[in-house]
Amino acid sequence: MAKSRRSTIEMDKKEFRKIGYQLIDDISNFIGSIDQKPVTPNEGPSQLQDLLGNTSLPENGRPAAELIAKTTDLLFNHSLLNGHPKFLGYITSSAAPIGALADLLASSVNPNVGAQILSPIATEIEKQTIKWLCDFIGVPSDYGGILVSGGNMANFTAFLAARTAKAPQNIKEDGIQNTSNKLTVYCSKTTHTWIEKAVILFGLGTKSVRWIPTDASNKMETKALDNTIKKDLENGYLPLMVVGTAGDVSTGVVDNLSDISAICKTYNLWFHIDGAYGAPAAIVPKLKHLFTGIKDADSIALDPHKWLYSPLEAGCTLVKNPQHLIDTFSSHPEYYNFSKSGQDKAQNFYEYGLQNSRGFRALKVWLALQQVGRSGYKKLISEDIELSEMLYDLADQHPELEAVSQNLSITTFRYVPLENIDHKEYLNTLNEAILNELQTGGEVFLSNAIVNGQYSLRACIVNFRTSKKDIEEIIEIIIGTGRKVHLKISQERA
Ligand SMILES: *Cc1c(COP(=O)(O)O)cnc(C)c1O
Repeated sequence: MAKSRRSTIEMDKKEFRKIGYQLIDDISNFIGSIDQKPVTPNEGPSQLQDLLGNTSLPENGRPAAELIAKTTDLLFNHSLLNGHPKFLGYITSSAAPIGALADLLASSVNPNVGAQILSPIATEIEKQTIKWLCDFIGVPSDYGGILVSGGNMANFTAFLAARTAKAPQNIKEDGIQNTSNKLTVYCSKTTHTWIEKAVILFGLGTKSVRWIPTDASNKMETKALDNTIKKDLENGYLPLMVVGTAGDVSTGVVDNLSDISAICKTYNLWFHIDGAYGAPAAIVPKLKHLFTGIKDADSIALDPHKWLYSPLEAGCTLVKNPQHLIDTFSSHPEYYNFSKSGQDKAQNFYEYGLQNSRGFRALKVWLALQQVGRSGYKKLISEDIELSEMLYDLADQHPELEAVSQNLSITTFRYVPLENIDHKEYLNTLNEAILNELQTGGEVFLSNAIVNGQYSLRACIVNFRTSKKDIEEIIEIIIGTGRKVHLKISQERA
């Protein structure tokens, strides 16, 4: 082997610069013209497989410049663009451009944010990000926490902390086999599917979930919660935690957090808030009242990759007493030399969650929080809500639309043709067909919600690119599509 090494995977400064400049040029053009493109090219898997070609693992390497150029084209022209101003589906935000730069920077330095010694400045940036997120949603900054990949992981991390804190003390040594069919958790019917994954993965089983009914406004019925816990205690169950939802996935409703908190105090249960979508709305003054109970939470999940507009992936778990995370996740193998004496105490994030090696996902969140600031976020989130309210009002006023619900930045509504208005089954079928047409048409992307048994179109605005003009155009697109689909189905049935 030659004395000096020339690795094929290395890029010298000149080459990196040339490819990098070209890529940045292409990305800026992409961002600058994203509203001109279809939301989705609507290509099927086999079409895309043809595009990639059925080739096997390349034997020999190819020039990086050629690969990056080809791949740029592939991604720009064959992706669903959730950064498009008319993408209002599910809860996926437009990605803040500063996040793209942050990711490039983060992966260039590549700190391993599992241990402080491997990521000195990155660890402090993540700690500061956590503090700022606490401040953002209005809980004291002595909450601790960790950034994770998304809402599911954020909720899992909190769930495990709750289990350690509230299950019998010897759970770490004995496992849960003696108590598993006794441990119970409480949440409303609107709770996101993460809870089912959690009880399956972490050994409690799906029977441990007590699905508390919701009232007419879709909030957890706290009287029923209280009664269910009482009955379970009488029957020898071991209640662990209650999950309150702050912004449910379908309709954006926030549970009555103060009432849930009071019940948790009465029975000494862990109070977790799933605020993956809605927690950032606590920054909006006129919505403050919805979040009064947030300070009482033992843990909170929120998703910077939703309403903080961070690129995927970024979720966050906040815990009132972070020692619960350490009690749950810390272990000290002999091959780690991470506990240095002498310096002030270092925080090692591998002790705070499930991951060991960890990327620097805090950077994109930290930078966006500074680029926009508290007042900027207040404005962006308020505008998203205003646009959502506007969509509701326009649907309400239109003779062929029926407004169904509006909470936070989620609006649900239906297309109702001028005739046939009372035909419940037909309206469900029709709106489902309209949604399918919209999702493949490329003009606008919505999703669906079943509200009180009605199949509804659903728009969730976590999109800083959406404007009033988009909302007005979306109404036109839906009316056009609604008429077309209605005509087609009626002709097929005739
Ligand atoms: C989106 C969402 C989740 C899941 O989060 P991911 O980031 O998709 O893993 C959980 N709960 C609620 C309320 C959500 O809105």
